[in-house]
Amino acid sequence: MTTKIWSEEELKEASSGLEGKDPEDAIRWAVENFYPDLALACSFGAEDVCLVDMQTKINPRVKIFYLDTDLLFKETYDIRDRLTKKYGISPIQYRPAMTLEEQAKAHGDKLWATNPDLCCKIRKIDPLLEALKGLRCWITGIRREQAPTRANAPVVEWDKKFNLVKVNPLAMWTINDVWNYIHKHDVPYNILHDRNYPSIGCAPCTKPVKSGEDPRAGRWAGFQKKECGLHK
Ligand code: SF4
Repeated sequence: MTTKIWSEEELKEASSGLEGKDPEDAIRWAVENFYPDLALACSFGAEDVCLVDMQTKINPRVKIFYLDTDLLFKETYDIRDRLTKKYGISPIQYRPAMTLEEQAKAHGDKLWATNPDLCCKIRKIDPLLEALKGLRCWITGIRREQAPTRANAPVVEWDKKFNLVKVNPLAMWTINDVWNYIHKHDVPYNILHDRNYPSIGCAPCTKPVKSGEDPRAGRWAGFQKKECGLHK
């Protein structure tokens, strides 16, 4: 069987057709068109736990992966383990080629404080390239409301940076939609969300936010940086 190559026009059409529909419809579309060459990228944040719940109900065999930077919060490993147990999934771990010690030797101690872009490249982007190898589609939890850089995210798009189809089932959702889903379906979530961490990344680059602050204000506080480069 030949593998279908999707044109940008066809992807735009698919995206328009899924606009206003439920996130599950976007996941079903991705599974129907790309299984088994697709995966859900999971950082175990509030959006991603919704997607794990939806995806395992649609097709529990779709690959789920996460990027372990060696700098995640203990609470992130806890939620990984709770999801693994509840849904019977096996999230695949991708790690940086360098240990933290090797990185410190090559680029200096605490690279995240001196050159976070390089640190994200080593600990996130390069492992993501490994995770996406051989795939035709990846599913992510980005939402338009999260940041100006995400405001125009379509439901389906061609990811020019990584050269595969990207599906954003929650693109249209508000944060209330996310939490309504979590409570309605009793989905386990990272307890740091209850401690004023709306957006959770690596421990050195994630701070709690104050009431009324931008939900991503706690990420790379003190830097202009607002994205790790996975979704640019
Ligand atoms: S989020 Fe911070 S610690 Fe994590 S990879 Fe990026 S710069 Fe490094």
